[in-house]
Amino acid sequence: MQRNPYEMFKQQIDEAAPFLKIDQEYFDILKEPKEVLELSLPVRLDDGSVKMFKAWRSHFNNALGPYKGGIRYHVQVNRDEVIALSGWMTIKCAVVRLPLGGAKGGISCNPAELSTGELEKLTRAYALGVSRFIGTDYDIPAPDVNTNAQTMAWIADTYEKVKGFSEPSVITGKPIEVGGSLGRGTATAQGGVFILREALKELGLHGKDLTCAIQGYGNAGSFVHQLLQGMGLKVVAVSDSKGAIYNPNGLSYDKVKEHKLRTRSVVGFPGSETISGEDLLRVDVDVLIPAALEGMITESNANDIKAKVMLELANGPTTPEAEAILSDKGVLILPDVLANAGGVIVSYFEWVQGRTGDYWSEKMVQERLEERIVQSFHDIWAIKNNYKIRMRQAAYVQAIGRIASAMRFRGIWP
Ligand code: NAD
Repeated sequence: MQRNPYEMFKQQIDEAAPFLKIDQEYFDILKEPKEVLELSLPVRLDDGSVKMFKAWRSHFNNALGPYKGGIRYHVQVNRDEVIALSGWMTIKCAVVRLPLGGAKGGISCNPAELSTGELEKLTRAYALGVSRFIGTDYDIPAPDVNTNAQTMAWIADTYEKVKGFSEPSVITGKPIEVGGSLGRGTATAQGGVFILREALKELGLHGKDLTCAIQGYGNAGSFVHQLLQGMGLKVVAVSDSKGAIYNPNGLSYDKVKEHKLRTRSVVGFPGSETISGEDLLRVDVDVLIPAALEGMITESNANDIKAKVMLELANGPTTPEAEAILSDKGVLILPDVLANAGGVIVSYFEWVQGRTGDYWSEKMVQERLEERIVQSFHDIWAIKNNYKIRMRQAAYVQAIGRIASAMRFRGIWP
């Protein structure tokens, strides 16, 4: 049975607690979302029938600034998953020193079964439902699994029509033409690659002939393939929801991407061996990159993992039990709240650009992303070494300390 991600989140908070000298009340507050909106959305489908969809938006914590977090479309979406993801966003924004809190949204649906017109109707119904629950200085959504720049454009358009005026910073991950930021599409993967580069330097592995496997081939997973290839690393296995492919001599990004666009899966890529998603985790590689969904690395497969480093581009991919096994084996886990923070960092840049009307060059976005995320990596690395704890615990120590300090200044009121 899959671990409940909200329970996982609470356990991760507890695992950082012994290294923080703060009152218990802050941990109690940081285990509960501040407010959760639940929606039932009727959508008229192309065949004339009406289908009901359940959807949520969770505001976890806003001590550091407005709520921020993506919107996910997936059959697995449920209230606890959305709450967990909003908790992880809260920690992530604090880890990379953003003046933002944590939120998340999601619709329980299978987008593959919906036409483009039905997806637009569902998206606009959701946008209307959350329009009183989001805002530039309140809650700023963004893309996540199965949502993209087009989805964000529909939400921005619906919101602005409801309000009657333009508000470009109400949502990020928009198309450039609708006020998006250069570099947002690749930001999650780019941030992860900066983190991996710094970690490999610390381990004395930078510049070596290293191999990688990537689980999940969407926005995060496919772009990281491209960037790793550019760095000279060899990606030998990748997977998506339909299965996995393997070639010990390396998989070419351009060719796999073209195959995926044409056939809607990486499976069947010419010159590769088809393996199962579980087998991908067992491949003998230096770096394993979970970039799909939460709870994929568990106590039942952690022992089979051979990688030395795991870069968590997905949110919550590793259960606490699996993390304990991997740590005992000496695997360095670069945790989600740091490793995939590039996405929210560039979302923050997009928010700033929309508010000021001053749009940056791609070079400026990249430089500022690199500066912020590399500094955050070294801050967390120092805490890890100082307390002799895992990277995730160090990241939580940093984040909870910052959030609790803001809560202390604000006080509990009323
Ligand atoms: P996406 O929808 O673009 O891609 C998801 C990919 O995962 C798809 O290729 C899908 O086929 C694959 N997948 C689904 N189930 C799978 C399974 N059981 N085994 C292997 N592959 C499977 O989503 P994304 O935006 O790339 O997000 C992926 C992860 O990264 C999520 O955990 C998300 O929360 C996290 N993340 C994304 C961003 C972002 O900016 N997009 C930012 C931070 C974190």
